[in-house]
Order: sequence, then C-alpha cells, then structure tokens
Amino acid sequence: MFDWKVLSDELEELKKAGLYTNIRTLESPQGEWLTISNKKVLNLCSNNYLGFADDQRLKKAAMEAIEKWGVGPGAVRTIAGTLSIHEETEKALADFKGTEAAMLVQSGFNANQAAIPPLFSKEDVIFSDELNHASIIDGCRLSGAQIIRWNHLDLDDLENKIKTNDGRRRLIVTDGVFSMDGDVAPLDGIVKLGEKYGVMVMVDDAHGEGVLGPHGKGIVAQFKLEGKVDIDIGTMSKAFGVVGGYVAGNKVLIDYLKQKARPFLFSSAPTPPDVGAIFAAVQVLAQSDDLVKKLWDNSKYFKDHMKSIGFDIGHSQTPITPVMLYDAQVASNFSKRLFEEGIFAQSIGYPTVQKGKARIRVMISAVHTKKSLDFALEKFEKVGKALGVLKR
Ligand SMILES: *Cc1c(COP(=O)(O)O)cnc(C)c1O
Repeated sequence: MFDWKVLSDELEELKKAGLYTNIRTLESPQGEWLTISNKKVLNLCSNNYLGFADDQRLKKAAMEAIEKWGVGPGAVRTIAGTLSIHEETEKALADFKGTEAAMLVQSGFNANQAAIPPLFSKEDVIFSDELNHASIIDGCRLSGAQIIRWNHLDLDDLENKIKTNDGRRRLIVTDGVFSMDGDVAPLDGIVKLGEKYGVMVMVDDAHGEGVLGPHGKGIVAQFKLEGKVDIDIGTMSKAFGVVGGYVAGNKVLIDYLKQKARPFLFSSAPTPPDVGAIFAAVQVLAQSDDLVKKLWDNSKYFKDHMKSIGFDIGHSQTPITPVMLYDAQVASNFSKRLFEEGIFAQSIGYPTVQKGKARIRVMISAVHTKKSLDFALEKFEKVGKALGVLKR
C-alpha cells in the first residue's frame, strides 16, 4: 500500500511555513458580513465585487429558471441538446462583450481549457505573460504548443520574443486584470503588436468584467478595442456572482470550439439556475452602472486610507488591494489576528504568489458601507501596530 505518511509530513511542513490554507466554513451567504464559527465577521475575501452572489434579482431568476427548466442540463449539449436559455444567455453575453458570439462552459478555468488546446498544437507558439493565471498556464500546456513567457506587462520584451520566435500559428495571451496584484494588462499595446506581427490575441477578463469599462463591460471596452481582440475569456463566478465561464469572439471561433473543445464536448453544460442568474446579472449591469461606480468609490476610499496609515499596498489599478507583508508567517499571523478582531481577510502565499511575496489580499465590494470600511481600517491599523508591520 502507498505510504501516505510522506504526504502528511509534507502537509506538516506547509503548516510550519505558514503556507497551509485553513479553509473557513461559512454559515451564511456570501455578502458584506459573514457568520463563521458563530461569529460575525466582515468579508474582505470574496470576488463578489457587486454583491450579485446574494442579490434578490439573481436569486429570483435562478428560482424561475428551476421552475421552468428543472435543475440539470441532462448531458453534454452535443448529445442531449442545448436549452434555449443557454443560447439566449450566450447571445446576451456576446452583446455585453461586443463580440459576434459566445460559448458558455462550466467555469472560467474550463474556458481556458476550451479555448486554447483546440486552436494550438506542437507547431505553434504561445507568448504568455509570466504572471498569467494557472488556468491559462494549464490551457497552454495542454495544447502542446511551445510556450514563451514574457516579462510581466513588458511590451518591449514581448516584441523581442515575437520577432525571434516563429511558428505555424501564434498567440499572445494575458490576464486582463492580474488577480493577485490588481494591475492591468497594456491591452492596447498588445493588440498593436498582434496586428503588426499577425499574432492572435487572447485576454482572460475574469477580474475585469463587472469592474472595468462602462457598465462593467470589461477590459476590451475600457480600452475601446471591440472587434480587435480575437479571444475574450470570461468568468461568471467573480463580479457576476454565480459560476460558469465563457469564450467570446467571432462566429467562426465559437462554431469551431463547439465542435472541438473538450470541456464543451465531454462535460455537461451549466445548470438552468446558474444560467438564469447569469442572464439576470447581464441585464442588471446593462440597465445601471450604479454598483460599478459604488465599487470604485469604495476602493478609492479604502486604498487612500490604507496608504495614509502607512501600509504597502503594491501598485493595484483596480479594487483588488494587496496588503504586502512579504513573509508568509507574518501574513498568516496577520490574518489570524484580524479574524479575532472580526475581519475575514485570508493570507495568500506560495504557490498562489511568488515566494517572499506573501500578502493579505483585500477584495473591496460594492456591498461594503463606509462604516464597515472604517471598521476594517481601524482593525488593520491595530493589528499592523501589534505585529510591528506599522511603525507605532
Ligand atoms: C479566477 C480566474 C479564473 C477561474 O475562474 P472560475 O470561474 O472560478 O473557474 C480564470 N482566469 C482568471 C484570470 C481568473 O482570475
């Protein structure tokens, strides 16, 4: 029999290094305040940027979808057929993104597995920002293409690598917003390089949609690049508050992927309640940008105050606020102390971020009130002083 002790020893090592993630159990929905172990804590962890995870309108739409369509899709769409709400939602997403078409899959992670491997293989070259999300990295690996990492956000480095690496078909792929630092890809520059050298461009807008651009339409709209990005990946599990992912682009791309993409061919479609809620979220965002504005207002307030208190909050350009602590053990202690003070803010270390770059990543949401943000600021200052992160 396998000696499982090897693995339990490794887990012990992780604990000693402050790198073991203690997964909290929530006794309440995702929202501004949570109940964890019977304790009320302020939520600074979730990607629920607009509060959609527990929004009445989305909940109602999900329940109506269950009433009308049931709870499950039956099988994969190529075999059991597709529900018309899948198609209506794909059309709504394509309109939202300013593309011709879109294809829904089960998650943002799967969207990258769906988009990259069918289009690229051994003879091809993929240029990937060195800090791209794990799901992009895995999608690239799965394709078998040669992967060339370019220095984070560095267009000169990217151009040099494009000039010196040829292939049958080439792709530049980047996160839109980088989830751990909150910085934004120079998409205009990337698109220019794509045009200059005839290289396909793909962006994963997981942390951009619902956040960037007019009405939260995402990074492509923010840079006014509609129609110029070949592949636009999205997730329904961040600002959209549900779960699911999609690929958006021209009709040929989507038609091709529906014939070839393994997460589409071999894994069942998102469920009716998911799709119903997603459809409602797109409608809410199209009607009003109040929540997007509130999100940015809250972010500015929190970040400005954290800076003036004396925290190092990196160089985020979005509501993602990394509170840089560098040492994994300090970050882990900081998170524990915050929890005692009524704040849920998880520490993040290797392998999610590089070694020596541990942090607490604060996620600001439109559901936060100024009063709650003041509470958070007061507690961060208190713990920062107690742990010697801030000068007294
Ligand atoms: C979060 C994230 C994903 C994964 O999305 P899920 O819908 O949770 O699977 C994919 N890509 C990027 C860039 C992300 O930040």
